[in-house]
Amino acid sequence: MTSKITRTLSESQEGQIVEEKIYKANGEISFKRYSKGRFLGKGGFARVYEFLNLDSKQISAGKIISKASLNKSRARQKLMSEIKIHRSLNNQNIVRFEHFFEDSDNVYILLELCTNQTLSELIRRRKRLTEIEVQCYTFQAISALKYLHAHRVIHRDIKLGNLFLSDKMELKLGDFGLATKLEFDGERKRTICGTPNYIAPEILEGTHGHSYEVDTWSLGVLIYTMLIGKPPFETNDVKLTYRRIKMNAYSFPDQVPISKEARDIVSEILINDPTARPSLDDLLAHPFLCKNSLPKLLPASTLAVPPSSA
Ligand code: ADP
Repeated sequence: MTSKITRTLSESQEGQIVEEKIYKANGEISFKRYSKGRFLGKGGFARVYEFLNLDSKQISAGKIISKASLNKSRARQKLMSEIKIHRSLNNQNIVRFEHFFEDSDNVYILLELCTNQTLSELIRRRKRLTEIEVQCYTFQAISALKYLHAHRVIHRDIKLGNLFLSDKMELKLGDFGLATKLEFDGERKRTICGTPNYIAPEILEGTHGHSYEVDTWSLGVLIYTMLIGKPPFETNDVKLTYRRIKMNAYSFPDQVPISKEARDIVSEILINDPTARPSLDDLLAHPFLCKNSLPKLLPASTLAVPPSSA
């Protein structure tokens, strides 16, 4: 096959057929057809639906990005970079990139379907998680980050809403829209990006650039948020949140009892000097993750209620 173009057959919602036109090397044309199903969610640029491949019967998450939203060359470049980075990755704790194609109106990205939503919806339902759950998800998030950093990729947007849960309750890191791949060891990145509550202080300071340690910082914010139920630097005003991050102004509320090890791992990560933060291997050896044996996966019942042993 040499090139692919697609065309949308109808404009209705559920059940709409999306057709991918495939030009083969011998000049023949074939079609791959997908049925657009349930709406899964909406992001900055994308609408996401279940996509059923009508030949293989495989169901994926289909991210639809309208080309009209890509009229600025920066937006187009960002999407191309997201696709280039994401499709090169293959790890159990990263949402699998399956395929992408386009038609005259949209770009379509097919991803591994994560049926149990994200940690954001989980925290909304459960308010906060038990330590066993936080240990289990932290371990899987670190596995994803170790893989990424070994491939010179910095995610730069680690947060509850980008950590998906599969049907087996495996944690899967997704959304590579802000990710970057370093060209060489020691390269420093200068773009200001991230999500306000999770952004690392060195990105806000902007003086020496930033590197892998920004993901470790966001992991610290994530662990705190799972344990306490809200992010450590959250305020109603983004500027004030940034000031708090720069001053490292956060505390553990007395109303939520947490272990010394849990408190320690958060305070060891949330250090403003990125060179003083623990490595991912240091974190895997931290008492918070080693003090008891962990279940590899949590039961689906924990989507609604705490694990029974907690
Ligand atoms: P954007 O890149 O535009 O921010 P997202 O990747 O955040 O879009 O996706 C928007 C929403 O779509 C998510 O919050 C989630 O509800 C849903 N979604 C995205 N990817 C998947 C997936 N692989 N499986 C299930 N739902 C998904």
